[in-house]
Amino acid sequence: MATPSPAASSSSTAGVAAAAAYHANPTWRQKHQAQQVDYPSQQAVDSVLQRIGKLPGLVSPYEVDRLRTQLAAVAEGKAFLLQTGDCAELFDYCNPEQIQAKLKLSLLMSLILIWGARKPVVRIGRIAGQYAKPRSKPTETIVRVDPQTGNTTKEEIISFRGDNINAFSPDPPSGRIPDPERLLQAYFHSAATVNHIRSELSSGLADLHAPRQWSFQHVQSRALQDEFESVVDSLTDALDFMRTIGADPGVGNNNVLNSVDYFISHEGLALDYEEALTRLVRRPTPSNPSRSTFSHEAAAAAAAAAAAGGADGSSQSNEVEAVDRYALSAHTVWLGDRTRQLDGAHMDYFASIRNPVGIKVGPSMKPQELIEILDILNPDVPLSSGSDEEGGEGSHNGTVRYGKEKGRVMVIIRLGASKVASLLPPLLSAIAASSHYDSIILLCDPMHGNTQTSPYPPTSTDPSAQPLKTRSFGDIISEILHFLDIISTDFPTLRVGGVHLELTGDKDVTECFGGSMRLRPEDLERGYKSHCDPRLNFEQSLDVAFLLSHYFRK
Ligand code: PEP
Ligand code: MN
Repeated sequence: MATPSPAASSSSTAGVAAAAAYHANPTWRQKHQAQQVDYPSQQAVDSVLQRIGKLPGLVSPYEVDRLRTQLAAVAEGKAFLLQTGDCAELFDYCNPEQIQAKLKLSLLMSLILIWGARKPVVRIGRIAGQYAKPRSKPTETIVRVDPQTGNTTKEEIISFRGDNINAFSPDPPSGRIPDPERLLQAYFHSAATVNHIRSELSSGLADLHAPRQWSFQHVQSRALQDEFESVVDSLTDALDFMRTIGADPGVGNNNVLNSVDYFISHEGLALDYEEALTRLVRRPTPSNPSRSTFSHEAAAAAAAAAAAGGADGSSQSNEVEAVDRYALSAHTVWLGDRTRQLDGAHMDYFASIRNPVGIKVGPSMKPQELIEILDILNPDVPLSSGSDEEGGEGSHNGTVRYGKEKGRVMVIIRLGASKVASLLPPLLSAIAASSHYDSIILLCDPMHGNTQTSPYPPTSTDPSAQPLKTRSFGDIISEILHFLDIISTDFPTLRVGGVHLELTGDKDVTECFGGSMRLRPEDLERGYKSHCDPRLNFEQSLDVAFLLSHYFRK
C-alpha cells in the first residue's frame, strides 16, 4: 500500500555504523533498569534469550516502515490514531473469539471516526505481546481463608508481573517466582495472535463494504444501534455512488477499502526480551531493495566490522553502513510512566531503535524533562558515534540516535480528569516552543490518570474479596474533552493525534461505570473480568468513538 518512508535514508552514515556498534554492545545494559525482574537462575534466562534471538521477528521492518509513513500523516494532522486494547493480555486471551472481538471493535470504532473526522484512521492494538506489567510494589498482600475455621490470615507474596514473567494465580505462591520459560511462551502466544490477526484481515474481515458483519448485534443501547445504522447507511450510499461512477477503490488491485492495516504494540518493559527481538536490518539500496534482517552471525560480523572501522562513521564497508536496529517484537513499543528516567536503561534502548515509539506522560512529568526526553528520542540531528564532545551531561554517549522524524514519537498524555486542565498547558507550551512541535504525535490516554477504588465494597461473602479498581466513564470523557479543547483553543501550532484506550471487545464486561449502558458502581461485580486495569466495554468504547466523531464533525 505505502512505500517505505523516505526518512529511512535520512540518518547519517555515521549513525548507521553506530547502530551496528550498539548492537554488539547495547549500552542500556550498563544503565539502571527500572522494574527489573529477579530470576532465580541467570543461566536459564540466557539460554531462553539465546533461543528467542534466533527465532524470526514477529513483524517485518517493511511493516514498521509502513506504520512510520502512516504516523507521519498523523503528525501532520492528516490522519487520526486509535490505539486500543487490554491493559494486560494473558496467554489465555490467545483464542480466535477474543482476538476477533478486539479487531472488530477497533474496526467499528475507526469506521465511526472516519465518518466523523473525515480522516483516515491508523489502528494500533495493545495486543500480541502486551504481557509485561510495571508494578508499584514488588510484593502484595493476599488474604487466605482457612476453610475449616473461616479464620483469615494475611500473606505477603511476589506481585504478578505479567504472564510473560510469573503466574497470575497466587496458588501456589511459588508460581509467582519469575520463570524465564514464560518469555518464550510470550513469543509464541504473540506469534499465534499476530498470525490470527493477519489471517482475519486477509480473509476480508475488514471489508468496508460489509461493516454490518462486525457484530454490532449485541449492543444493547437502542440509541447506539440507530446511530451506527445511520453511519453505515451513509457509508453504503457513498460506496454505491462511487461504484456507479466507476470510482470504487474497493474494485481491482488497489483495494484499499477491502482490507486495512492493523499494527501491534506493547509496553517495552522487559528489555532483555526486546533486545533478543531487536535485529540489524539492511537498508534498501537501488541494487538491493530488500529490507532483510541479518542472521545472528552476520549481525555480529557487521558489528565487529563497525567496531574495526571505528564507530565514528569512518568504516568503508557498505554492509556496515547500511543497517538500522529494528525492534521486531511489535511495530511500535511504548515507554511506561515508571520507566522513562532520562538516564535509565529503557530510554537508552528506545533511542537505539528505528521503530516509532510512545512515551507515557503522567502528572509527575515536568515540561523541561519532557523536552529533554524528546531531544533524546527525536533529536534534531542524528549523532554519529556519540563521542564526548557531542554529548553533554545526561546524553547518550556511545549510543545510536536517529534524527528528527515526523511521527517518530507518540506523546501519550495520561494526567487524569482533575489535573489535565492545570498540567497539560505547561507541557504543551514547552512542546510548542521546542523544535518538536510539528513532528510529535499528541495522544490522549484518558484511562491511567483516572483509576479509582469502587466505593462499593465487594458483596461477596468471601473474606478474601478485594475492593474493585474502576474508572468513571464521566472522568474518561472529561479528560478527552479537555485534551481536545486545550489543544484546539490554545495551541494553534499543535495537533490532536488520537487516543490510547484500554478496552475489550468481550461480551458483558462491567469494569468502568457510566456510559450509555448507565452502569453503576454497584453493577461492577457482575461482569468484572480484568485481572489488571478496568477496561471500557463494547458499548462504552463505541460511546467514545461517537463522542470523538461528533466532536470532529461539528
Ligand atoms: C499501561 O498503559 O497499562 C500503563 C501501565 O500505563 P502507565 O505507564 O501510563 O502507567
Ligand atoms: Mn493499564
